[in-house]
Formats: sequence, C-alpha cells, structure tokens
Amino acid sequence: MEFNCLKFMCLLQLLSSLILVLASSIEASVPSTASAEIISRFQHYLQINTAQPNPHYYEAVDFLISQAKSLSLESHTLEFVQGKPLLLLKWPGSTPDLPSILLYSHTDVVPSEHHKWVYPPFSAHIDDDGNIYARGSQDMKCVGMQYVEAVRRLKASGFQPLRSIYLAFAPDEEIGGEDGAQKFAQSEIFDQLNVGVVLDEGLASPGENYSAFYAERSPWWLTIKATGAPGHGAKLYDNTAMENLLKSIESIRRFRASQFDMIKGGLMAEGEVVSVNMVFLKAGTPSPTGFVMNLQPSEAEAGFDIRVPPTADPESLEKRIAEEWAPASRNMTFSFMHQVTVYDKSGNRLITKTDSSNPWWTLFEDAIQKAGGKLGKPEIFPAATDSHHFRKRGLPAIGFSPMANTPILLHDHNEDLQCNGQLRLTDINFDLLFLNQDEYLKGIEIYESIIKAFATYVENGGNKESKAEL
Ligand SMILES: [Zn+2]
Repeated sequence: MEFNCLKFMCLLQLLSSLILVLASSIEASVPSTASAEIISRFQHYLQINTAQPNPHYYEAVDFLISQAKSLSLESHTLEFVQGKPLLLLKWPGSTPDLPSILLYSHTDVVPSEHHKWVYPPFSAHIDDDGNIYARGSQDMKCVGMQYVEAVRRLKASGFQPLRSIYLAFAPDEEIGGEDGAQKFAQSEIFDQLNVGVVLDEGLASPGENYSAFYAERSPWWLTIKATGAPGHGAKLYDNTAMENLLKSIESIRRFRASQFDMIKGGLMAEGEVVSVNMVFLKAGTPSPTGFVMNLQPSEAEAGFDIRVPPTADPESLEKRIAEEWAPASRNMTFSFMHQVTVYDKSGNRLITKTDSSNPWWTLFEDAIQKAGGKLGKPEIFPAATDSHHFRKRGLPAIGFSPMANTPILLHDHNEDLQCNGQLRLTDINFDLLFLNQDEYLKGIEIYESIIKAFATYVENGGNKESKAEL
C-alpha cells in the first residue's frame, strides 16, 4: 500500500513537472500580443520583394513611411537617382545643435534561387522553433526594423532624445551603393544632418557574443596581363606569355598561402589578412572546336579579387604587384578594375577607434552590456558594406547586427553570384536566411539601450565624456 502510494505521489509529481515544462515551452514559442505584432511587422517588411536586380523599392518605402507615421517621425524620400528612393526618417532632438545619430540600413537584398529554399524566400515563414525564414532576415531588414521598433519602445516610454536621430533606408547596397549610400554621404543634405556617429550592418555570430566591426577590407580588383612572342606548340623558348603569367600566378599563390596560414594558425582573423583569389584566367587561341592546340598564344591574362584591410600597408602591396606579380621585366602589365582606398579624406586609415578615445565606442559597449548582451572582440569586416562611405568622411561607423546564437550558414551556389557582377562577398556567403524571433526581439532591446545612450550623450570639454541626465 505504502509502495503504491509512493508510486502515485511520484506519478503526480511527474505529471505536474510535465505540465510545468509544457507550459513554459508554450510560453517560449507563443509570443505575447505585443511581440506577435512586432514579429508580424518584421514579416511584412521581409515579404516585400526587394531582390536585385529589380527591387520593389517603392513598396518598401511606402511600408516604412506608414511605420514612420504611426510613430510621428518626419519622413523625406530622397531620390539621388530616379527609381532608387532613399527614405530618411527623423526624430528631432531637444538640442538640435548637437551632432546627430544615423541609424543606417539598406532595403535591397540579393537574388535567390527559389527552388533551393525550404520555404520561399519572401514568405517570412516561421517554423516550430521560431525561426523566421526570408531573404533579408539577416541582411539586413532585421536591423532596419529593429531600429524602428526600438524607436517605438522609446517613444512609448516617454523618452526624449537630446540629439536628433535619423533612420536611413537606402537602396543598392548589394550592387555597390553608388546610387545609394555613396551619393547620400556626398550630398549637401547629408552635410546638413550634422551626423556624429553611424550604425550600420554587421554579421550574425554563432556564439553567445555579438560581433561588431570597426573597419572593413577594401576591394582591389586586379587584372594582370602577360605578352610574349607567339610560337609553335612544340617549341621550347623563353618569355612566352603563358610562362610569364604562370610565374606570377605561382608568386601570388605563395603570398595567398602565407596569408591563409595566419588564419589557419589562429594568428589573424579573416578580416585582418590580405586575401587574394584568382577569379578568371584568359588565354589561348580559339578554334571552332575549342582551342588551337599547337600554338603558344601571345597574350595571357588573369584577374584577382584582393581584399586589403586598412591595417595593411597598401603601398608595399602595390610595390609587390608592380615588382613581383606583374613586372615590366617579364613583359607584364597590370590594371585595377576597381580599387577602394584604405584612407579617409584626411589621409587617415578608414578605422573607427575602439578605445576610450572614441566616446561612441565606449557608449556602445556599455549600452550592450546594460541590456544584457555580450560583445566579442571588435573585428574587421571581411568584405564591403556601406560603412566605408561614411568612414571616408571621417565619421565613426560601427557595423553591428545584434544576432548572437545564430549560425552564419554558407551557401555558395554560383547562380547567386550574378548581379551586375558586383555582388558582395557578405551577401553571397553570409546572408542566410533565417533569424530566430527571440533573437530578433532581444536585438530591439539592445538597440533601445544603444539609441538611448547615444541620443543623450553630451561631450564635456573636448575629449572628456559624460552622460547627460535622462
Ligand atoms: Zn547587407
């Protein structure tokens, strides 16, 4: 009897703990009404097809304007190039003379191969684990809407910023940003905004620490060309175009391996080394069936995508290219299809300081901690973002997308790479495809904390920092 009673008690205990577990899992997977509305707005933005090369920009802008209206934000649609609207929202500060805060995001996303997706890329489907699947869920519609939601929460709490806060939603980042961020950053309108600091995109992080980026590598797209006397395929002679090009390729390959070894050995992070990858090889004499096989051609060419961190020595790299990779002594020439400088307009390296000399960085770090987030060691972004347009002006810009515990899933289908030949590494390799809704909601709290800290910061006498009373 006693044994049975014990058994019964155990069963009861087991049942009650089961109910508790069930209740808490239901609580975790079913968000509150407020959270459900936040997620639903995010889904709405994700469902707008803004994929290159034919992004539905006006649909995105209309949606964002409707959000701005609900928050009583001022809105201006700027069109530096017809058909490519950049939406600028403003929350005026009570001390408008102070430099403003720019919360920057881009509205376009990279194209998708729909048939390779489990859920269609513009469905914003949420699975049983709360993962939201969509193109742009990580890059970077999440960030754009998190800014909006953070502003919504701050407004609801009665917060009043000292500094004006701007939210920019720009076109064309995925194809280089020339008609978006670049024209914006160079415009008189931008001058009038008197921006003091910029927040832009970062990358997801698989661990518990958020990633943040203080610089990025500059793309150098290099073409090297060798020339030499043509000759019969059976003849051995010096200085053929092919032989000259091969010597260069071998030299470049050795350099590439030395850089890669530093990553493999854990001495450097990916963004800290110079990466060099051969992207094309062009040589041979075409024939109706392929190539002429008994002729050594007079020209041979190769192309390389080089990424140069602002911490590297660009002058010595250029010297290496001129003397080792394409030396005139081997009948070689070189040219850059695209070469982005590592310096700003004052000749300083395009680096946002991450020490106490930059009060924005200190505020940023503290605000994340205050909101319960953890920040990893600041990094150099391995590819290009729009941040460099702002850093070029000498402005501090922090690359940050609050997505911890989120896998950066790689996908390398070649078909995804074609978009005016200008798709960026970030988006080819890192834009994936889902974000967990709890992580998204947590990110809003993080931005709330950052915006609050930035918008109430006042400088006291030169470099000394102090925080204003809220
Ligand atoms: Zn992006």
